[in-house]
Amino acid sequence: MKMPLVIIGSGHAGYTLARAFRQHDTSTPVVVLTEDGGEYYSKPQLSHGFGHQTSAAQLIQNSATGMAAELKIMVRPHTRVTAIDFAAQKITAGAAQIPYSDLVLAVGAKPFVPPIEGDGAQDILTLNNLEQYRRYFDTLNRSEHVLVIGGGLVGTEIAHDIAQHKRVTLVDIGSRLLERLVPEPVSQRLHSVMDQVTLRFGTVVARIDKVAKGYSVTMVDGVKLTVDAIICTAGLKPRLDLTAGLEIQRGIVVDSYLRTSQAHVYALGDCAEIEGQILPYLQPITLSANALASTLAGKPTPVHFGPLPVAVKTPRYPIQLAGLTQGSNLDWQINEGDDGLTALAHRDNKLVGYVTTGSRNGFSLLPTLMR
Ligand SMILES: Cc1cc2nc3c(=O)[nH]c(=O)nc-3n(C[C@H](O)[C@H](O)[C@H](O)COP(=O)(O)OP(=O)(O)OC[C@H]3O[C@@H](n4cnc5c(N)ncnc54)[C@H](O)[C@@H]3O)c2cc1C
Repeated sequence: MKMPLVIIGSGHAGYTLARAFRQHDTSTPVVVLTEDGGEYYSKPQLSHGFGHQTSAAQLIQNSATGMAAELKIMVRPHTRVTAIDFAAQKITAGAAQIPYSDLVLAVGAKPFVPPIEGDGAQDILTLNNLEQYRRYFDTLNRSEHVLVIGGGLVGTEIAHDIAQHKRVTLVDIGSRLLERLVPEPVSQRLHSVMDQVTLRFGTVVARIDKVAKGYSVTMVDGVKLTVDAIICTAGLKPRLDLTAGLEIQRGIVVDSYLRTSQAHVYALGDCAEIEGQILPYLQPITLSANALASTLAGKPTPVHFGPLPVAVKTPRYPIQLAGLTQGSNLDWQINEGDDGLTALAHRDNKLVGYVTTGSRNGFSLLPTLMR
């Protein structure tokens, strides 16, 4: 009997790979193992589901059983892989040992929560899967005042979203929202549109103590506030708990063919560091899955990434960006009208990135960035 292709993880990376592989090969058995419920859902919806009062159940587009039937694969939900024997080409999940012909790690990332003192710190919410969304949704619905830690992409999106129904304070160590993604004038416009959110910059949360009703939060600068819920969006770290025997740096190190340092073992998605880059977005994951599916079907194919467009889901002030938009050595040209703003980033007189806002759309500039 043919050994299966084994995929660990049922997120965008795992399922997109399984789907792409089935387009090349309908006979090799494919097994997807996942420690979660194996439901198919769109993770970007997590950051704007609360505003629409969409429950976790409503976000699910297909069940594990439905995915198995649709893709003609085996899906084993609630199955945590605990060890990999690279020499024998088999994995351990509970009492089971499963052999593989090829193994793909699509294990994603874990939310990073900075060290915070106090007995309330253990109740900090994070938002990186359906289970976490369930807790976030229920807790926020019982809350009046919510603290968001982190003003990057996800923190900005959820603060904007939650503020439709709740009082929100956002705290960030930097000096403005999206500091590492957009030039200052774009952040300033966003701040004025998000005037219903209290923004606190240049400080961090030092401790969180449980009080009779909610939490008392103390910042390092001594400022105190009382909130009912705290959500941390301070970033994600690739999951590296299955990597003994693999080369790792910030993520699982892979080349442009998504090959790890072990034969027949590949990685993609939020857990992978592809030629030095971690690209935790859907489009690079889809490109990686398509290339890897061809490779696994017998046609070695490297992945190529052009400049990746990113949309910030802040409907009151929509923002799109692509290419290089951070770094002090960029020369920005900004023009603004009633329909929005266009910021072009140049380096050595060459267009290297852009940010557009409002109804302006920078997609026509993408081919220029690719040159
Ligand atoms: C709130 C939010 C909003 C976002 N918005 C956007 C957006 O607008 N646009 C965009 O492009 N990107 C966005 N992203 C990023 C994008 O959603 C992710 O990059 C992508 O979904 C990651 O997919 P993944 O499959 O690599 O990881 P995950 O979805 O995290 O999947 C990892 C899988 O591995 C499984 N797993 C882990 N360890 C084990 C183990 N030991 N045994 C068994 N199973 C295991 C888990 O159960 C899970 O199924 C957003 C992310 C978040 C959190």
